[in-house]
Amino acid sequence: MGLLRSAFLAGSQSRWLRERAVNFKPVRRAVSRFMPGDDLEAALAATRTLQASGIGSVLTYLGENVQKPEEAEQVRLHYLDVLGGAKQRALDAEISVKLTQLGLDLGRAACETALTSLIERAAADGTWVWIDMESSDYTDVTLDIYRSARARFQNVGVCVQSYLYRTERDLEGLMASGGAFRLVKGAYREPPEKAFPKKRDVDANYFALARRLLAPEVLRAGIRTIFGTHDGALVRRIEEAGRQAGLRPQDMEFQMLYGIGREEQVRLAAQGYRFRVLISYGDAWFPWYMRRLAERPANVLFVLKNVFAG
Ligand SMILES: Cc1cc2nc3c(=O)[nH]c(=O)nc-3n(C[C@H](O)[C@H](O)[C@H](O)COP(=O)(O)OP(=O)(O)OC[C@H]3O[C@@H](n4cnc5c(N)ncnc54)[C@H](O)[C@@H]3O)c2cc1C
Repeated sequence: MGLLRSAFLAGSQSRWLRERAVNFKPVRRAVSRFMPGDDLEAALAATRTLQASGIGSVLTYLGENVQKPEEAEQVRLHYLDVLGGAKQRALDAEISVKLTQLGLDLGRAACETALTSLIERAAADGTWVWIDMESSDYTDVTLDIYRSARARFQNVGVCVQSYLYRTERDLEGLMASGGAFRLVKGAYREPPEKAFPKKRDVDANYFALARRLLAPEVLRAGIRTIFGTHDGALVRRIEEAGRQAGLRPQDMEFQMLYGIGREEQVRLAAQGYRFRVLISYGDAWFPWYMRRLAERPANVLFVLKNVFAG
């Protein structure tokens, strides 16, 4: 793992750094590139703007590892507001949730109950709930919770990470009963026993998993696959693999994060691919933002420019 990436991922867990950075205006300005605002209204406004250019959204209220049941309940209620707000404004929005933000560290049963209530509401509104994948300490329980949710509901999917060695095997097991998967590279600090340390191996595994998800029997099974990446070369290889599999653009779905790869977002949507932008918002942005810096240390220059711009 690169030194800088490692430093940012370590920083993402530092309380000392978080307490100082969140009140530092230039950092907040830099963050706004990736986040339309702190609150739901800002996220819904961004959803509306994207929708005008044929791009759907997935909304994520930032936060993770809540420590009290009341916090988890507040997050659940917030997501119900998100679904209600999107429905009321006729916005094409799905939601993506972190299980530790719904109280997984406090107990699995309550977390599953909260998740179920969101999936039920989303189903009633004709939309979807995605389960984010967090660090590898949570992979087993996250996939387990996804499996039980998916046994009851059709409108739930889970994220899988190509940096983990185990993902190929996990995906084979999960796909046997259909499902919905968002394939990403992975954003956490993982040891070499669990994850490919070299980026080129993560990328190669991503493409291998993408091809697997484009196999004829997988397509026939009606599995919903999302390719979540900003890697232009990879996107083009996946587009080509899709063409070879006889797919039309509208049969394939890509997602990117708000503010990253905007030209590519517009290009994919204009070419007819199903496309969504994942919009993160909320005031708990520090660890999430550090992971964005870890992905692309060049973003640090952007922060510095804001610092010197005063
Ligand atoms: C829709 C979506 C959902 C996600 N959900 C999860 C999840 O649940 N769990 C999880 O672990 N990870 C998640 N991620 C993050 C993911 O794991 C990667 O960390 C992130 O997408 C960067 O990898 P990449 O595929 O874009 O490729 P990279 O090889 O990292 O980047 C390719 C190119 O994209 C651009 N780029 C990438 N990141 C940035 C950035 N931060 N700022 C500016 N440019 C950038 C650069 O041009 C870079 O060269 C998600 C990503 C997306 C798009």
